[in-house]
Amino acid sequence: MPEPENSQAILDVLIVGAGFGGVATAIKLRERGIENFRVFEKASGVGGTWWHNSYPGAACDIASHLYCYSFEPNPNWSRKYSPQAEIQQYIEHCVEKYGIRQHIQLDTAVDSLHFKDELQFWQACLSSGETVQARHVVFCNGALHLPSYPDIPGREGFKGPAMHSAEWDHSVDFGGKRVAVIGSAASAIQLIPELAKVAARVDVYQRTPNYIAPRKDRAFSEKEKARFARWPLWHKLYRWSIFARGQVLQFAIIRNSGTSRLRDILQRHIISHIRASVKDSKTREQMIPDYPMGCKRMLIADNYYDAINRDNVNLITEGIAAIHADSIQTEDGDTHRADILVYATGFDLENYLLATQITGRNNLELNKLWADQPSAYKGAYIPGFPNLHLMSGPNTGVGTSSVVYMIEAQLLLIMQALEAAGSEQLLEVSEAANQAYNNTIGEALKNTVWAGDCNSWYKREDGEIATLYPFDVSTYRRDHKRLQKQDFTISPRLRSAAE
Ligand SMILES: Cc1cc2nc3c(=O)[nH]c(=O)nc-3n(C[C@H](O)[C@H](O)[C@H](O)COP(=O)(O)OP(=O)(O)OC[C@H]3O[C@@H](n4cnc5c(N)ncnc54)[C@H](O)[C@@H]3O)c2cc1C
Repeated sequence: MPEPENSQAILDVLIVGAGFGGVATAIKLRERGIENFRVFEKASGVGGTWWHNSYPGAACDIASHLYCYSFEPNPNWSRKYSPQAEIQQYIEHCVEKYGIRQHIQLDTAVDSLHFKDELQFWQACLSSGETVQARHVVFCNGALHLPSYPDIPGREGFKGPAMHSAEWDHSVDFGGKRVAVIGSAASAIQLIPELAKVAARVDVYQRTPNYIAPRKDRAFSEKEKARFARWPLWHKLYRWSIFARGQVLQFAIIRNSGTSRLRDILQRHIISHIRASVKDSKTREQMIPDYPMGCKRMLIADNYYDAINRDNVNLITEGIAAIHADSIQTEDGDTHRADILVYATGFDLENYLLATQITGRNNLELNKLWADQPSAYKGAYIPGFPNLHLMSGPNTGVGTSSVVYMIEAQLLLIMQALEAAGSEQLLEVSEAANQAYNNTIGEALKNTVWAGDCNSWYKREDGEIATLYPFDVSTYRRDHKRLQKQDFTISPRLRSAAE
């Protein structure tokens, strides 16, 4: 059995991505004394989502004290929902504090991952032209890292600056310009109020209205921050209260595909909020959703309806027929002039795991295996792909709690799997365990509001939901706490005669 050419260079663990997921994985490896690992990040900085999404108004929408690592609480969050720069700074702080920096190689995409049957290692081809071998791969590429653009005729012909919210061009001056924002969901409702302050005009192209609840954001006083720092137990309790609210209120809304009294009450409450907030009667009606709350992602904002009420902001609900050099033509034949185009059109959730070409045992190609539907055991393990650990694999998404919480839960499983296999064994989930897990997920999804009659980015074109986890996040954590070794085969890696 031949060893790779430079066996010194074989990594114990190769990590893809330096967002919350990749950084947490690196921290946990170092905690276990594992130093032979590298993190490859395609961007020029760490931070993942928070490095990429620097549009004006970008901030988290899960309260900051829960949207951070449990092992690195931050008493100094400036606001209940901190802005992008502060979250980015927090991740940078973790990278420094936990000694991760020297393990990270920036500006380096992992283009492909190939399990070499003859060597029994993973081989990664990097955008730098290098190839790297590793015993394990932890794939932390993030579910929201591929910007999605709408398929509108003429898109390429627009003459002015055009940008996706996740690829903000900070050199563009919006002052006094006519701006077209395509999309009206999570990123759009954060950036529109900021653009409206400086632009001559903002046209908001809305396809579907959203349930937007008040955010109730506020700054923390110095006294409150000092209290969080001085009383860790108080700080923990505060974090827990945010968590509990997500469990009790938000999860209860999505849990049931049929009628739900709580959902009805909250839905009525938000619709009243929209009616009370939007001044123009036609616009108001256009902003009221006609599907059950929770079926699409629920949003929060304090300043969106105020922005919509401004004279220089115009809501357009006609579909877009074409994009021309300096305008947008809607399906009713109207032409709307635009100097700058902003795509707040979200992310490609169908292909985020397939952007990297991944080939397992016997040249099994992941994109072929997943042609019908992506699935994995506990969102992390795929039969035929030994020692490949997914951080945000299929059915790991939640709309009701912190993704950082989910990442930490997933890491409980991944760290045990890494330990169980060590450097000399291959760990592979069984077909039966994978099937059983996904049957449970599939059945449970039918009982959620997502299965209802609405289009959402959660759903594939065929209506299947390969993104979301149907139970609450405590269940996710409980389920990921212990590695069920009986669900895996753990076999010795074949060794070369030289070893
Ligand atoms: C605008 C916005 C706001 C959000 N707000 C919240 C919130 O309030 N609360 C919440 O819970 N979640 C929120 N999310 C979801 C957010 O993505 C997660 O919370 C979290 O940041 C995911 O961390 P991650 O490390 O898994 O992925 P990411 O942060 O996406 O990091 C993945 C990294 O992998 C890199 N990468 C991908 N492919 C490759 C490759 N082939 N080679 C090398 N590098 C690669 C990417 O460049 C990226 O830096 C938000 C997302 C967006 C876009």
